[in-house]
Amino acid sequence: MNDRLHIPRITKDVLKKYKFHLTKGLGQNFLIDGSVIEKICNAADINKDDAVLEIGPGIGTLTQHLCEKAKKVVSVEIDRQLEAIHHETLPYKNLTLIYDDFMKVDLIKLFNDYFLNENVKVVANIPYYITTPIVMRLLEERLPLDSITVMVQKEVANRFSSLPGSKDYGSITAVIQYYTDPKMAFIVPGTVFIPQPKVDSAVIVMKLHKQPPVQLDNENLFFRLIKGAFGQRRKTLVNSVSGTIPEIKKDDLLSIITKLGFNPAIRGEKLSIHDFALIANELNRLLDSAQRL
Ligand code: SAM
Repeated sequence: MNDRLHIPRITKDVLKKYKFHLTKGLGQNFLIDGSVIEKICNAADINKDDAVLEIGPGIGTLTQHLCEKAKKVVSVEIDRQLEAIHHETLPYKNLTLIYDDFMKVDLIKLFNDYFLNENVKVVANIPYYITTPIVMRLLEERLPLDSITVMVQKEVANRFSSLPGSKDYGSITAVIQYYTDPKMAFIVPGTVFIPQPKVDSAVIVMKLHKQPPVQLDNENLFFRLIKGAFGQRRKTLVNSVSGTIPEIKKDDLLSIITKLGFNPAIRGEKLSIHDFALIANELNRLLDSAQRL
């Protein structure tokens, strides 16, 4: 392996040599702990059959380990200042670096160019300021991914992997659980970064479902129902949804949830994706038959 960037002295020397100024707004906290990086690679279960998509390589600390373990790595970094550093730290033949904002990259093209017929795993210590948009983009574009293993703020990891009824459960949790099976892997203290962030982090592994975990007649309505259910958190499902989805009448929703055996005063945070699917399918039937009249 190249000069091991996870050794704090080597990271500091590289930053000094290239007079690199960290941009706080880009979430530039670089890892300096080899055992944490090994744990990330183990949690992601990276081996020579895998192709890895990394977001935000920084100076390349995690990237070095990924290149050693995976068949190939494609890494997208927004900060062009890092290009000169990468020439020194990342001389790997199985690595492609793309300098762009991940949120603007044409992912379908990227997959066609680099990942055709590959087993693709996303592994990244992602910038905290756009964690949710990045994860949602990866999921909503329906890319052929095996799994997403990311280091995020501890609170976000809790939110992504919580269960119905817990205080962290929200619309994002339900949506993530529709696409994946999220598991919190381990907590990471702020001390393993330069500079140290004020919050703790956690690594979460989201294995994508091969088959949808619920049968839906109208996926869009399912998502709108979930969004509506958490739109007004302190309200019951019936009140919250009828305020946000106008075509659904309060009485209709009430009779559907009672027919399905739920408490009429149930709130969205108590409902699993299976519950949301049952309600959405009933609502869809009702809206369909109303349209036919
Ligand atoms: N992977 C490195 C590590 O673990 O040491 C760096 C992680 S640092 C938390 C996040 C990295 O993401 C930074 O290098 C930052 O410049 C980059 N970044 C921030 N916003 C980005 C975006 N929209 N697209 C791609 N990279 C981004």
